[in-house]
Amino acid sequence: MLKSTIFESVAIFFNDGPFLNLNFYYYTLKNKKIETINIFFVSLYGITSQTENPMKKSIPLFLACAALVSFAFVKPDTKTTKQINVVIDAGHGGTDFGATSSSGTEKLIVEQITTKIKFLNKNENVVIHLTRNEDKYISLSDRTAIINNIKPDLVLSLHVNQSANVAQSGMEFYVANESAASEKSILIANALRTKFTQNNTIKSSEVKKAPFFILKKSVAPAIVIELGYLSNLSDRAYLIDGKEQDKIAATIISFISELK
Ligand SMILES: [Zn+2]
Repeated sequence: MLKSTIFESVAIFFNDGPFLNLNFYYYTLKNKKIETINIFFVSLYGITSQTENPMKKSIPLFLACAALVSFAFVKPDTKTTKQINVVIDAGHGGTDFGATSSSGTEKLIVEQITTKIKFLNKNENVVIHLTRNEDKYISLSDRTAIINNIKPDLVLSLHVNQSANVAQSGMEFYVANESAASEKSILIANALRTKFTQNNTIKSSEVKKAPFFILKKSVAPAIVIELGYLSNLSDRAYLIDGKEQDKIAATIISFISELK
């Protein structure tokens, strides 16, 4: 968008006849990359010199130079929206299956949801990093090395639960007291839990504390999300359903996009 406004016009008269008419123009140029560029320039006209005084002759030249200098010092407004970097860590992989059932394994369910999160992200200010995007084993220390190298704003480690008690169900969120960003992790986990309560059909319990390796070693705020119990029939149907996985991914992307 281009706007121009003549905001001032000044005529300066000299005692012995000649005058200067200065017009100040102000342009505001807007585009996606640079929010605002302010350009000032001064046009000179109506200069008539009726004197041989060399000082008077030098005035127009001086003003022209001043106009160029003021243009050079106008700074563009470079305010940009902050980029948010988030690591989505799909738990387990390769020879490490995690929770298993006849109709799905933890390693594949979390990989599917992780891939959907990456695919669904259309926000140019959000960068999704993955610790794995294929079915391969990565040790916990390698995962935290990847994470701390990226220096993200948030780490979400996705898992699926299992229990001998088949009635046990629902989502669980874990943060570590031992984490460098413990307090921020708790705040974010509570907000994410609220978001899931609003957007998804699965129930969830209060945010819990656990000294999980990824949580303790990540420098950034980090949360382990147990997305549901594979050992519970209702949770299992939810976890392996493609449309429900889409909703889980959409909730996470929506939440990340609102992070400040
Ligand atoms: Zn797990």
